[in-house]
Amino acid sequence: MNFHARQGKLQHHLVSSRFDALLISHLPNIRYLCGFTGSAGLLLVEDAGSVFFTDVRYDTQAREEVRAAKVVIARKSPIEAVADFLGKKRRRSKGWSLGIESEHFAVAEKSRLNKLRPSSVALKDAPAIVERARMVKDEDEIQRIRAAVELGAKLFDRAIDVMRPGVREVEVAAEMELTARRGGAEEMSFPTIIASGPRSALPHGRASEKAITPGSFVVCDFGVILSGYCSDQTRTVWVGGVSKDARPAYEAVREAQQAAVAAVRPGITVGEVDSAARKVLQKAGLGRHFTHSTGHGVGLEIHEIPRVAQGQPEVLQPGMIITIEPGVYFPGKWGIRIEDMVVVTDGGCEVLTPTSKEFLAV
Ligand code: ZN
Ligand code: ZN
Repeated sequence: MNFHARQGKLQHHLVSSRFDALLISHLPNIRYLCGFTGSAGLLLVEDAGSVFFTDVRYDTQAREEVRAAKVVIARKSPIEAVADFLGKKRRRSKGWSLGIESEHFAVAEKSRLNKLRPSSVALKDAPAIVERARMVKDEDEIQRIRAAVELGAKLFDRAIDVMRPGVREVEVAAEMELTARRGGAEEMSFPTIIASGPRSALPHGRASEKAITPGSFVVCDFGVILSGYCSDQTRTVWVGGVSKDARPAYEAVREAQQAAVAAVRPGITVGEVDSAARKVLQKAGLGRHFTHSTGHGVGLEIHEIPRVAQGQPEVLQPGMIITIEPGVYFPGKWGIRIEDMVVVTDGGCEVLTPTSKEFLAV
């Protein structure tokens, strides 16, 4: 991981912004910038270099993990250590402004820091600068995400082995999660979704105690975290004798998913990618059943920017990794969703998810 390069981009940003330094509090951003994986800490980034503040619980871990930043172990809390550092370390000129991550910094923490800070330092809300940098993955990240996606795909193979009428959704999820752990996953990206029968019409139907019944779709949406990075995949399978309206609906979703994948290339907006999927489903008369957006960025977090949704102006660049996941839902009946992860390349995109999207009945 090239933490110096990542912080360098941020320092470069500081030069042209109204901030003299940034205080990073969102843990995935801290991990991205200096490698710390613990659950308490603050990273101060300025031109002169970066300082990471944590508490005594993370003394050993911080010294082992943190790169490209000086480590300060706070005697009390990291916030107080930051305030001390701002006050003592050097004389701050009047009007010195410290950017805080307004979307993440807790109101209570902000007011504490406001009370403790030297009067020459002003706290200002900063936009999501690190998240924007994280949209474009570097080589090391792409490699890790590739490995996470490959392990994730094995979970679906396992799901198919065990899925049959009478088996409870949680049992299928358990087998998948065991496969994830055996493959080295730190945890699941999110609670595994195994939604059968009418539950498959819920876009977020977590695995329940319900037994799988024949004559319906089962939506399987799942992901692993491997070496810090998330995978995210959905496949929908039919269980039992196939009803005659199942296959056309499935094929429409598959076509919509493929149309959106085919649209992904540098220079196009994510809104256009969303439209590519939406148009296919509208043409098939299923537009109003596609009730969510087409996808999202994935990386250290399961949901990152850009949001691949109607009208969104973000322009794709090589190195961005997004999901493409259109779906249709018929409340009380069933639902279908197909989701792959793709990486934007110079000429288009590469689909990372290796699993077949052919209609599958078990
Ligand atoms: Zn998903
Ligand atoms: Zn997703």
